[in-house]
Parts: sequence; C-alpha cells; structure tokens
Amino acid sequence: MIQTTIPVQYKNEIYRYNVEWLEFDDLSLMTGDTLTAWRPNLKQKLNWVFGNLRPRICLVCGEPFGVFDMHEGILSRNDVRGWKGTKKLLIMSELNCIPLHHSPCHMDHPPSREAAWEYQMEFYGRDLLEQWYLSLPFRVGPPRLF
Ligand SMILES: [Zn+2]
Repeated sequence: MIQTTIPVQYKNEIYRYNVEWLEFDDLSLMTGDTLTAWRPNLKQKLNWVFGNLRPRICLVCGEPFGVFDMHEGILSRNDVRGWKGTKKLLIMSELNCIPLHHSPCHMDHPPSREAAWEYQMEFYGRDLLEQWYLSLPFRVGPPRLF
C-alpha cells in the first residue's frame, strides 16, 4: 500500500491529509475479509472527506448530496475488464472514486474522465494523481495521461 500525506487547505486551515491506495503487490497479501471490506471502507472515507475537507457538492449537478453513489471516474470497471481477479480492486481508490447523486447524476449523466481527472487534481494535485495512475498494472502502458 502506498501512503502519502498531502497538505489540504479548507476553511482557512491547513490539514495534513493521508492518502493511501493499493498497489498490485498488495493484493496477494489481502485476505478475503479485507477485500470484502475495502469498498465499504472507501465509501466511509469519502463520506468523511466530503464534508470535512471537500465540499459536499455533487460534481455533476452542483447541488448538495447526502447519500451518494461512488462513481469510478477516471478509470471505469470497463476499462479494467481484462484485469484478472482482485487486480480490478486497484481502481477502488479515493483517487478514482467520486461521490455523486444516484439519479439522475450517476445513472444518466456521469462526468467524463477528463472532468473527473480535473476534479481530483484540484484536491490531490497532479503529482499524486499521476503517481497513482502510473502505479496501475497496464500491460502496454496506461491508455494516456491527462
Ligand atoms: Zn448531482
């Protein structure tokens, strides 16, 4: 697992914020229980981040959200459909997942991956986002950088 800390400014305070994500090598170390818990844990983390460090505003419609869907924004499950087994879990990262209203935002108007990239870059910065993206096990290199 890669762990790194970034400074985040919110409401005139600077926070030290921990970002972590799975690497390919980590997957072999994870138990079935850990894998099952990964996505709900991620959703819990997003639930905290949006409201404490990021505004709880839907990227698609600009309105506040309460309950939300996790949208795989930069890389979709379809993008990684060729990845075997648990490898697919590597896109279940806060760097990739964006909270949206279930309907109509997620269902009918999901943001483009470019919009998702820009949105995530505002918070995490380009260096971190690229570090995550380039850590993914694309067989012939990532489709593209943004
Ligand atoms: Zn919305």
